[in-house]
Amino acid sequence: MNVYDSARMAELLAPLGYAPTEESGEADMVILNTCHIREKASEKVFSELGRLRADRRDRGATDVIVAVAGCVAQAEGAEIIRRAPDVDIVLGPQTYHRLPEMVARVTRARAEKTGQGTRQRGAGLLDTDFPAESKFDFLPTGGESPVSAFLAIQEGCDKFCTFCVVPYTRGAEFSRPVADIVAEARALVAGGAREITLLGQNVNAYHGEAADGSTWNLARLIRALADRVPELLRIRYTTSHPRDMDDDLIAAHGEVPQLMPFLHLPVQSGSDRILEAMNRQHGIDRYRRVIERLREARSDIALSSDFIVGFPGETARDFAATLDLVRETGFAMAYSFKYSVRPGTPAASMELQVPEAEKDARLAELQDLLNQQQRDFNRASLGRVVPVLLEKPGRREGQLVGKTPHAQAVHIDGEHRIGDVVDVRIVDLGRFSLKGQIATIQDTEHLMEARA
Ligand code: SAH
Ligand code: SF4
Repeated sequence: MNVYDSARMAELLAPLGYAPTEESGEADMVILNTCHIREKASEKVFSELGRLRADRRDRGATDVIVAVAGCVAQAEGAEIIRRAPDVDIVLGPQTYHRLPEMVARVTRARAEKTGQGTRQRGAGLLDTDFPAESKFDFLPTGGESPVSAFLAIQEGCDKFCTFCVVPYTRGAEFSRPVADIVAEARALVAGGAREITLLGQNVNAYHGEAADGSTWNLARLIRALADRVPELLRIRYTTSHPRDMDDDLIAAHGEVPQLMPFLHLPVQSGSDRILEAMNRQHGIDRYRRVIERLREARSDIALSSDFIVGFPGETARDFAATLDLVRETGFAMAYSFKYSVRPGTPAASMELQVPEAEKDARLAELQDLLNQQQRDFNRASLGRVVPVLLEKPGRREGQLVGKTPHAQAVHIDGEHRIGDVVDVRIVDLGRFSLKGQIATIQDTEHLMEARA
């Protein structure tokens, strides 16, 4: 979501003459787009601000505009203004459509101060509203898009898991209207996108208004995009919640060829007791059943997940249940985290906080198992021919990078058009990616037979 938001901010600032640079040292404006999901994020912001301050001093660039955006800004905006008086703008995730106006105000205020003979930086602008207007109605569309593009269809969350800050920092759940999403998808495809990942904090809780006033769920939206946007080859969505995996959505996995056979479905824990304390609103049986039905609908579906170890009250037995669930399910990849206390959330004040060393040990054990599963999953691709969507040039000359339907990155050598899907034989495994060769015609025939 932050990647999506950052790209939108760049587009909003383009008419003012700003363009992204890889080098913060040559920037006229720096925006730190921050994440508040785990601890240390805000300390990181202050240390980064310190680094930027030193950099500006070294190069004598006192005019650089500094903004802090995202969820740390939302949660700790006033503190940022207080502790870092050289920050010009603090803005939350729901107000970044006002960024051009804020930049104009800062620039104007500076010009006035210079006129009065002072060059001192003023108190920063703070805008962390949850405004009545939707930022999506103010974001520009059009222009060039990456081959694999993001499209936010939903924001915020009403689930209130006891460990999580998202409902507080991103606000209440909100779904964008169907027509806006279809129009944006068409614009992305016209700009070169061939794959779209539908985004939301709780993307499968989507319930957007259609032109006839009815409410559509995610499955219906996916089917509409597949039907109405002809050059859209691949559709993905993230992040989904197990409780919102409805029958329609599971069926869509079996019926919509554009919907890729890879699903990120966070479960957090394998223990019912812990899921209950987390307020996840489902048990392990439901998770198992959803996976079983997804596999019935689409036998080659691969899964990924999020896990939290060391949630308050998690015993060795609860943790063993998580390992069991991982072993029994088999994940193509996964993200795992130590429980991180977020002030203001219910879990922060729960008793039986797990000691840090215990969290470390559990995380290491879980990650060993998940890494093993990821290696096994990738190893199973060796020798196979898979359709790869070519996304961009690789780091080496003549190299291209693309993705398999299972979202594995593949490097190939050769000259092919970015945006095409080519049949690739997987010949080697890297640490984080696969190496492939464009398949021979014979390979492709095998593939056709397999598909038939
Ligand atoms: N909406 C998604 C998750 C969004 S947050 C869902 O419900 O699945 C992304 C991930 O960050 C979560 O799945 C969780 O694993 C992790 N996370 C969130 N809060 C956390 C915390 N306080 N400590 C550790 N991990 C956390
Ligand atoms: Fe956070 Fe996801 Fe739970 Fe919402 S559903 S509160 S975003 S973990």
